[in-house]
Amino acid sequence: MASQTPADGAAIPRSIRQLDAETLSITWTDGVESRYGVRDLRLACGCAECTDEWSGEPKLDPKKIPEDVRPKRIESVGRYAIQIAWSDGHDTGIYPFERLRRLAEALDPAGE
Ligand SMILES: [Zn+2]
Repeated sequence: MASQTPADGAAIPRSIRQLDAETLSITWTDGVESRYGVRDLRLACGCAECTDEWSGEPKLDPKKIPEDVRPKRIESVGRYAIQIAWSDGHDTGIYPFERLRRLAEALDPAGE
């Protein structure tokens, strides 16, 4: 436990808040703020229903996700993830912090 790399240590949210209906903001313990379009998060759901467990390929058809999908409830899961219950009724998606951090970099490579 004592030998965590800075990258691991960074993947812990200091705060999670919803900026507006479409934007979720996570501020990490290293001071970086990541912003996510909530629909992007819905589409990035990594649960077995949305992502192929073996290939990691998305199984979701983006066309089936409402444009105005919203998080209804965000709960922390242990000390490593959040679980989001969505307005489209999907509530099994768990988003590990590390994945959220990587997702932010993928969605916003410039880091701004
Ligand atoms: Zn899912």
